[in-house]
Amino acid sequence: MQSTLAIDMTTAIALAALAGLFVGNWLAGLVERLPRIMDYDWEAQFREWRGDQTHGDEARGEQARDDQPRADQSQVDNQRPSLWWPSRQCPACQAPVTGWRRLPLVGWLSQRGRCAACGKSVAWRYPVLECLTALGFAACVWHFGPGVQALWAMLLVASLLALAWIDKDTGLLPDVITLPLLWAGLLANVADTFAPTAQAVLGAAVGYGLLWLLFHGYRLITGREGMGYGDFKLLAALGAWLGLAALPMLLLAASLAGAVVGLLMIALRRARRGQPQPFGPFLAAAGIVALFSGGVWTGWLF
Ligand SMILES: [Zn+2]
Repeated sequence: MQSTLAIDMTTAIALAALAGLFVGNWLAGLVERLPRIMDYDWEAQFREWRGDQTHGDEARGEQARDDQPRADQSQVDNQRPSLWWPSRQCPACQAPVTGWRRLPLVGWLSQRGRCAACGKSVAWRYPVLECLTALGFAACVWHFGPGVQALWAMLLVASLLALAWIDKDTGLLPDVITLPLLWAGLLANVADTFAPTAQAVLGAAVGYGLLWLLFHGYRLITGREGMGYGDFKLLAALGAWLGLAALPMLLLAASLAGAVVGLLMIALRRARRGQPQPFGPFLAAAGIVALFSGGVWTGWLF
């Protein structure tokens, strides 16, 4: 009995790619805004903390100054930015990007990558993330077939692309993405979607613990910090999605790729020796490769 959706593979892949373009367009905005939102929140928390710590005239003076609207700061600076507000605008001249110009690829191509108002070039992050997400989504449907598994895979791919890009730009892997991603992986594998449930739970715990140990061991020996807690959480999330057995190859592939790119950057004089390099993009890339090669890696290992 035929129980699958009545669409053929080519249509499904094309639809997934189209959806990927739009999701990639949204991700390109997220990648720019999320660090700004985090900055804002950190600053707000810090101000609150400082307000709680200081008493007396100084605190009251601070309070009085905070109550008055600051003339030199624009309203935009005082208001918490959100993923939806203000709507997309040119980073150079703040002109809003409206109508069909907001469409993925079409908008960017028709303006040849330049702002319609001021002519400054628009971030190449937009077309690149749009194309990568479209490719990733198409690959999900092609590899897993149209269905629930492909939808889960798309969620993982989109999250990893966003994380990789944010880490590349800011050196941060935001908890608001890594932690829900971990839970989502465990949830997906309740039905053994990508790995048996037990493998997923162990993968999450060992993924975090392994990097935690490496981090503290490295710090003990060299006195330096080789990576951040965000990396632990990302490997935990990948362990939750892909299972315990995927961890060794994930780490090996990410470290090798990181070393090769690091050496290339030094050779091309784009980076200095000893300059820290975010590990997240390599972990994310290894995660995407592992998602699509699945059993091949773990089968090779065991
Ligand atoms: Zn502009």
